[in-house]
Amino acid sequence: MATLDKDSELRIGVFVCDCGLNIAGAVDCGAVCEYAETLDDVVCVVRNKYTCADPGQNEIKHAVREHRLNRVVVASCTPRQHEPTFRQCVLEAGLNPYLMEMANLREHCSWVHPGDWDGATAKAKDLVASAVGRARFLEEQVEMAVPVTRRALVIGGGVAGIEAALELAEQGHQVTLVEKQASIGGIMAQLDKTYPTMDCSI
Ligand code: SF4
Repeated sequence: MATLDKDSELRIGVFVCDCGLNIAGAVDCGAVCEYAETLDDVVCVVRNKYTCADPGQNEIKHAVREHRLNRVVVASCTPRQHEPTFRQCVLEAGLNPYLMEMANLREHCSWVHPGDWDGATAKAKDLVASAVGRARFLEEQVEMAVPVTRRALVIGGGVAGIEAALELAEQGHQVTLVEKQASIGGIMAQLDKTYPTMDCSI
């Protein structure tokens, strides 16, 4: 993996995903690409039908090498879905995986603005410009493993505390639940019946 000189010129590639019609059905992706080309430090803009698919990822890898990109912006869906995919993709292209930024054009734009072609397109441009802005400040990161103590202290034995303790225990942590009252259950334990079943609360 190539290391980045701190003073090296920014060379940002922007990859705009149609997601079939998920994004391209509500956003003018061509106009977003044209706009991205006007942004400072952007040296390459590519539009993909499905960026996460192999052909889309191969285009990213090819562009990183051909244009000597040192930052990548993927304008597609939520990072929750594909951030690991694109981090791995840029790593395979020879870049530090943390030099990749995402703009969420699907969950944050096309899916929430159906039927507003102009408004959604304008917002998509803003999201891309913001991601490019963040990308300028990205720095290489090195992953490390840190030992953690797999024990947890939960303070408060109300419903939230009980649920948190159970979830942590299910994940394999040793849990200590602390409650100042004589019994757990909190406010819930004081209720006679609960809606909608009208069952006893505990
Ligand atoms: S990268 Fe995300 S937005 Fe693009 S095709 Fe894949 S799932 Fe759809």
